[in-house]
Amino acid sequence: MIPFNMKKEPRPIRRTFRRALRLLCPACGESSIVQKPFHVKHHCTYCRALFKREEGFFVGAILMNVVTSELIILFVCFIALLLFGAKYENVLWVLFVVALLFPVAFFHHSWSLWLAFDYLVESLPKYER
Ligand SMILES: [Zn+2]
Repeated sequence: MIPFNMKKEPRPIRRTFRRALRLLCPACGESSIVQKPFHVKHHCTYCRALFKREEGFFVGAILMNVVTSELIILFVCFIALLLFGAKYENVLWVLFVVALLFPVAFFHHSWSLWLAFDYLVESLPKYER
């Protein structure tokens, strides 16, 4: 049995990822995680959940962006080659453009998905100052 003060708050997976897709705080869903384009807030202004926990925490967001970009590139490659029968040289140009634009367009969502994942695994600490 878990002692009363050690009880964990419920963290539903679907609700957390819905908030992540809308770039909202995974803990409360009341505040955006974005301060301005390509700048994630230090902490949630509503519930004070810490978004930038420690040095190197951003590596998870980069990992999320790289893995998703590679999956998208693979998906586009298979669709173009197998379904449309496009020439390989033309597909390479499309993949090059996708590889340049997708990671930039996905920047905020890679952060929000990383924060949602971290929130589900171990919750987000509160900013104390
Ligand atoms: Zn919050």
